[in-house]
Amino acid sequence: MTTAEIEQVRQETLELIKKSGIHISKQELEKLMLVDFGLGNIRKEGIELVDILNSPKLRITYLVLLPFQTLPEHLHPPCDGQDGKEETIRALYGTMKVYVPGEQNSDNMNIPEGRETFYTAKKEIVLRPFEQVTIPPNTPHWAQAGAEGAVTFGFYNRVNEDNNVFSHPRATSCLVSVDG
Ligand code: ZN
Repeated sequence: MTTAEIEQVRQETLELIKKSGIHISKQELEKLMLVDFGLGNIRKEGIELVDILNSPKLRITYLVLLPFQTLPEHLHPPCDGQDGKEETIRALYGTMKVYVPGEQNSDNMNIPEGRETFYTAKKEIVLRPFEQVTIPPNTPHWAQAGAEGAVTFGFYNRVNEDNNVFSHPRATSCLVSVDG
């Protein structure tokens, strides 16, 4: 992505945060992370996040998805002799669809084009403001925002987050990079 495209994503993220009514300090906003998982198209597969707590044991994050942006499927495996990461997502603004293993229960599932092989979790959980879901460790999951985007809380126990396993073999937890 070009610097201008990245800046555009940043601006849209800040607008969604503003619309959601959550309050984040200037210092926290400076640490806004734009993640494209190394897949090269953040609007298709990516996420924007701001850590508000990142202690050795606990992490609390605001997660932002732009309209129809998809968080690619991954799981948090056991590592270093511990269970993997347990993740709770709580909606604050907009709609976020979270997918976990189980029977497909929606006709509106919208897997990013050309990525069908890398999205195996088919049971849809729709989160609207003040609804939440807890995803146990070692469970494949992915998420996608609705038309108005989504702002959510993420609550996690801390583990080595370099160990996240993505269904797409090229995906990693890396920030978007400038290539143009
Ligand atoms: Zn996760």
